[in-house]
Amino acid sequence: MPQEPDFIHDLNKQQQRAVRHGEGPLLIVAGAGSGKTRVLTYRIAYLIQQQKATPNEILALTFTNKAATEMKERIGELIGDQARRLWMGTFHSVFSKILRYEAEKIGFNSDYSIYDTDDSKNAIKQILRENSYDPKEIKPRILQRRISDAKNELIHPGQYNEKFVHSTLDEITATIYDIYVQRLKHNNAMDFDDLLIKPIELFNKYDEVLAKYQDRFKYILIDEYQDTNHAQYTVTNMLAEKYKNLCVVGDDAQSIYSFRGADIRNILDFKNDYEDAVKIPLEQNYRSTKAILKAADSIIKKNDSQLDKTLWTDNDTGDMITVLDNYDERDEANRVADYIQKLKRRKGYDFGDFAILYRTNYQSRVFEETFRRKGITYQLVGGLSFYQRKEIKDVLAYLTLLINPHDDTNLRRIINEPSRGIGNKSMQGLMLRARETGQSLWEILKNVEEADIYTPAENSVKDFVAMINELKRDLANGKKLIDVTKKLLEKSGYMKSLVEENSPKSMTRRENILELENAISYFEKDNANATLSAFLQEISLITDTDKYDEDKPAVTMMTVHAAKGLEFPAVFVVGLEEELFPVGSRDNEEVNIEEERRLFYVAITRAQQDLFFSHCRSRYKYGEEQRKKRSRFLDEVSSDVVRTETGASIKQNDNAFSSSKNSNQNNNSGNHVEYDRQKPQYNKNNKSSGGTKIHYDNPDGDPFQVGAQVEHNVFGPGKI
Ligand code: ATP
Ligand code: MG
Repeated sequence: MPQEPDFIHDLNKQQQRAVRHGEGPLLIVAGAGSGKTRVLTYRIAYLIQQQKATPNEILALTFTNKAATEMKERIGELIGDQARRLWMGTFHSVFSKILRYEAEKIGFNSDYSIYDTDDSKNAIKQILRENSYDPKEIKPRILQRRISDAKNELIHPGQYNEKFVHSTLDEITATIYDIYVQRLKHNNAMDFDDLLIKPIELFNKYDEVLAKYQDRFKYILIDEYQDTNHAQYTVTNMLAEKYKNLCVVGDDAQSIYSFRGADIRNILDFKNDYEDAVKIPLEQNYRSTKAILKAADSIIKKNDSQLDKTLWTDNDTGDMITVLDNYDERDEANRVADYIQKLKRRKGYDFGDFAILYRTNYQSRVFEETFRRKGITYQLVGGLSFYQRKEIKDVLAYLTLLINPHDDTNLRRIINEPSRGIGNKSMQGLMLRARETGQSLWEILKNVEEADIYTPAENSVKDFVAMINELKRDLANGKKLIDVTKKLLEKSGYMKSLVEENSPKSMTRRENILELENAISYFEKDNANATLSAFLQEISLITDTDKYDEDKPAVTMMTVHAAKGLEFPAVFVVGLEEELFPVGSRDNEEVNIEEERRLFYVAITRAQQDLFFSHCRSRYKYGEEQRKKRSRFLDEVSSDVVRTETGASIKQNDNAFSSSKNSNQNNNSGNHVEYDRQKPQYNKNNKSSGGTKIHYDNPDGDPFQVGAQVEHNVFGPGKI
């Protein structure tokens, strides 16, 4: 066995134990910032260095593509170039790759389309219409949610119909679910859920295929295990069955995806599933100040169900957390902007050190406007992503057709885009014919003269079919992707129609399409055997966080969900109001407060040095100003680590807000600590059950003692 690598000394004793752990299941449940991801990274490097496995015998599953890329880079630094051959990525990307190889066995071909959430919603909408339901009454979004939940629980349409129908909505769900599954298969398309459940179907059906992958993956490692759902749990257990070298790391307190079917029991039950599992705790936090850690701890303690964990840090006490009490969302954005400028001057931060975290995407808008006005560079993560823009999806739909013409959803998307006189009525006729004959729309279009439609439309269809066929031939003859794309944009008239429209909007669309061309060129440059299929697969799996560029000196704006696993020197958690964070209920579904609280815990624990909370007393909604109550979470934070600063514009608007001020005072834990004047009060509601226990290096000291002289980096010297 080779000598131990030096890099093992980058780790503490507990971490080293986890990295050195030999064969058999390994469970690491530990608090935020304790080095879980670091342990996974080093363990992989160690396994390879110690020749326990070659890189392509290791399967590592991460929550975002970005996390995978970073991990790969880091492993590359530790052990060199061979890291590139690791099987590493999100569940979706790894299993879509496996499915490309094996698709034919389950009735798909390897060029299957991947439907994003929008595509599958559109497909559901179309099916509703065909079956005489009104999509305004039966919301496609709700059906999609239900279907997705069923899929992730591995309940297929037949079972759903048999066992889960108790109401009219259930009945409709069962009907639509069944048709939806058939429709996707017919279109040679898979949605995101299929990428997880089709492998299970495949492995159940073909023992030898399962055996092949079981043999291949000697070691399987999973990050953020608390957010895996039933399907992910099932597929990894199948793969790990032979060697049982499954290493999972996670934090039950950071489980924030139950709305997508994530099941916290997967991590809680690991010891039951694998009786001989070794459990290693990690207890030192390397990320945050003591004050931040204390705030996090006081929050998570309010939840009833948490595993007992210890977390301590050697880091400084740090500054108090500042609560910004704002008049409205503009006031909020202005004050955050001012703080960013101030901290930048006083602490030598650059813009890249800051993050603004919010509960919902739309909250970014006011920040964007303000930051632009004030010359603060920022990068927005999430929201309507580049690849979800209409024009980009249109071009991608064209490209998809070149390899998968039977994909009716994509075909319908662009058949009359730009307008070529194939109107709704003709389309209705063609689609009906497709359904009646059981053929794909493409088949019907190819023999359009047999369908009885309006002659000009018939001619347009013929031109369209000829164009697609010509481009398909180009592709088959090895013409470069970028050239095929350019030709497509010209022949389809898509670019021309944008140029002719000549509006600011159409110009932006044109620029976006040029940017897509760049992406295709790069892809061809980077990949020797770049196929259209591989390109489409890669971009259909791009997720929100992937576009976040760590090295860009710009303030990052993202949702708390997208911030999972990341860290920033200074963090602003904004919009801390009732019905926003925690969210308000939607579709009459009850809000899961414990999950919202975990989300708040995730937000807090992203911060390394400086943490701000902010809330508004009023906010615009549907064009009207509405009063807002501060979030209950603000009142749950241990009062001795926060100070509140009320904005000047509140005092100006004092009269208007006298009543909301009262409602703001219902915080019985009294954490409106005015810096250097008021005594901190201790949180009386501390529950002792579970939670993360925090130790300070000074065992009899709290980070902020009453009467202590303190030096605040921004506010100067003062006394608590
Ligand atoms: P989260 O729960 O938020 O995902 P985590 O447990 O995965 O956090 P990491 O991101 O791995 O934590 O580590 C947090 C920070 O601490 C990182 O900057 C990491 O490099 C650093 N760190 C972890 N372990 C050590 C160590 N032994 N020495 C120095 N720094 C460390
Ligand atoms: Mg992590």
